[in-house]
Parts: sequence; C-alpha cells; structure tokens
Amino acid sequence: MGVSSILWRPRRVLYFDLSDVMERTPMKTVVADTAIRLFNNGLVNMFVNLLGASDSRMIAADMQRYENYVVKILWLNGTDDQLDLERIEKAFEDLLPWTNWTITAPARPMDDELNNLIGSRTVELSKPLNYSFSLANGSRFVIQANKNVMWEVWKDSGEYDPINQYLFEHVKDYFNLTDLEDKSVIPVVFLQLRNDTAIGGVAGIGPGVSWFPYNLIIIGYQGSSVNAMGESGQILLTHQLRHEMGHWVSLSHYSTRIESEYPKVICSMRTLTNQFCTFCKDARARMSFISYYQAITELHSNSSDLLDRYGNQESLNLIINELNNSLQLFYDWEYAESVRTVAEIYHELEDITNEARHRSFMYTRVIPIAITLVAVSLVSTVIVFEIRTRRKMKRSMRNTQYSTKNANLKLCQLI
Ligand SMILES: [Zn+2]
Ligand SMILES: [Zn+2]
Repeated sequence: MGVSSILWRPRRVLYFDLSDVMERTPMKTVVADTAIRLFNNGLVNMFVNLLGASDSRMIAADMQRYENYVVKILWLNGTDDQLDLERIEKAFEDLLPWTNWTITAPARPMDDELNNLIGSRTVELSKPLNYSFSLANGSRFVIQANKNVMWEVWKDSGEYDPINQYLFEHVKDYFNLTDLEDKSVIPVVFLQLRNDTAIGGVAGIGPGVSWFPYNLIIIGYQGSSVNAMGESGQILLTHQLRHEMGHWVSLSHYSTRIESEYPKVICSMRTLTNQFCTFCKDARARMSFISYYQAITELHSNSSDLLDRYGNQESLNLIINELNNSLQLFYDWEYAESVRTVAEIYHELEDITNEARHRSFMYTRVIPIAITLVAVSLVSTVIVFEIRTRRKMKRSMRNTQYSTKNANLKLCQLI
C-alpha cells in the first residue's frame, strides 16, 4: 500500500462570532438566520470588487504601480516624541511585498497663518470632553479637553473644511513638492494641539482624513495624548497613521456600518493592530496585478508596429510565456508572487520597447544619415580625385609637349 497524503493549501477563512446571539436567543433558527445574514453580508465586504472605487478620483489610487514609497510626516507643533516608523514601514512592505517604504517625521512649529486659522476655529466647550485609555500596565490614561477645534471631517469627508482647504493649498510649499501627480510621495500633516484642546469633537487622538485626490493625509490630536499612550509609545497615533495610509493605497473599511451583523476583522483598517489582514492584501494585490497587466497590454498594443519591425522577437516570445505563468499564479490565488512577476514583465517589456525604439532610430535616422554622409564624402573624394587627376594629366601633357619641344630643339641643334 502506498503512502497517501492530503495536500492542503491555505485559503482564506472568515470567522463569525455568534456567541452573543446564542447567549441572547439560544434558538436554533435565530442563530441560523443570523449566521446566514452574516455570511451574505460578509462575502460582499470581504471579496470587494476589483478596481471598485466609488469616487472616480480614486481610480488612480486603485491603479497605482509605485515600487518605492516615501512618506513625509510634517509634525506641526510636534514635541520630540519618537514614532515607531519602522513598524509602519514593515506593515506596508507586508501588505505590498513588491514595494519599499521610507518614512520620516520631522517636527516644526505651526506657521502663523495656520495658527491663527486654528485659533479662529477654536471654541470653549460647554461640557468638557473626556477620554480614557487602558494601558498595558493596568493603569489608565485619562485626558480632558475644555476647548475644541471645529474640524468638519464628517461632512463631505472634510473636503470643504477651511483647515483642510488651507492645508490642501499649502501642500506644495509644506512638503517642497513639484509634482502632485506623483502619489508615491505621501505627505502627512500631524496637527498637535494644546493639552486642553480637542479637534473635530474627539478627545485624545482625534480624527484623521486621507485625501488621495488632494495629495494629503491629515491627523489631529490633543497634545499630551501623544506621549502617554500604551506600552509602545504613541500606540494610537501609529495605528491611525497606518490606517489612513491604508486608505491611500486604496483600502477601505470592510463595511461602512460597524454594527454587529458584519464580520469583525483583525486588520489595521478596523482594529488596533500592526498588520493588514489577508483580505486587504488580496484586494491590493488583485488591483496591482490588473494595473500592471493593463499597462503591459497597453504598452504592447501602442508599440505593436515598432515591436513587429524592430523588437527582439525571441525576448517577446519569452515575455508572452512569462505573462501566462504570471496569470496562472493570479488565478491560483498566489497574489504576491503574481504581482512580483507581472511587474518584472512590465519592466522587461519597457526595456524591449526602448531597445526597439533605439534600433528604429538607428535604422531610420542614423544609418540613412550615415549612408548619405559616406556617399557625400565618397562623391567629394571622387571629385577631388578627378580634379587632381585632371590637373596631373594636364601637367604631364604640358610636360610632354615641353619635352617634345625640347627634343625638337635638340634635334634641330643636332641637325
Ligand atoms: Zn478609515
Ligand atoms: Zn484588512
């Protein structure tokens, strides 16, 4: 008898916590109904459509194909606290394993104009806002706000809020940017407020907005909440930063509703954790694969004449094979590997196209010019040669005539 083995390949698993329903109504039908409802809602949420941006301006976010990201955090009124930036870089390199991330966070005082604007948007609270957070050592961190900066991030996602608009207008100066279309540079503004001042009606770590179309992420928070949170420093600030950056790379919350009838996911887009879940990784990789695949077919069809005439056919055939393999990886849910290979193929095709362009330039411009130059120089050489030969011939004819004359003279003398 041969040894048999079961090949088990890890797929994606969704867990639904039904304990609450069972405790409240331990009836079989209610539990089954809830399970079915959760499952149906869950599928739509977890397996989001490819390139399914609801705001058309976010299609560019879906389609991004950057391989090196630079996150520039500008910490306005920042104290000298250190953020664990490396942990955030790692989370994104885990989410997009074909990319590299660099994050910096210099601090500087707020400029007067922004300071005045924030002052004009600050109001005394009739009832103080309190926030408390349990720390790992068992103690509790408590913070109170007597003032609040009006920051309307909930209305139209904050698009028309004066503070946001001011920052949208200043993003170029603040971050010394020339090209706002290059979204591989992610500018982040941290607004650190005074210890007694909340922002957006939220005490402690305030709200955050990720505005891909305006090229800016903004996070506001009450001053002292930053250096006392959690065992690893600014626990919520780094989590929030990771979350907003997650939106930048087109990840969304799994559900716009956070009620109990939706699955709870352990992911930076939903909870306090350092990592993105498999569903986020899958969704991002699928978008990236499709983006590269489209770029390849576009590049290929736009340069088909050029490639037919001047492309290295052997390399092109190899590429088609590689592309099929990469597509197979995609179908097999080997998403990270499929993106890695499709990105490589895209760069190879770029090289082949550039090579073909170079060759076409050589054949259609340089070589004809070279032939013309050679022809011109040949003709001129021939002409010069001919002129010289004629001159020589003339001279030698003259010499012959002269010597004949001389000979005749000599003859005469002899006679
Ligand atoms: Zn969010
Ligand atoms: Zn996730």
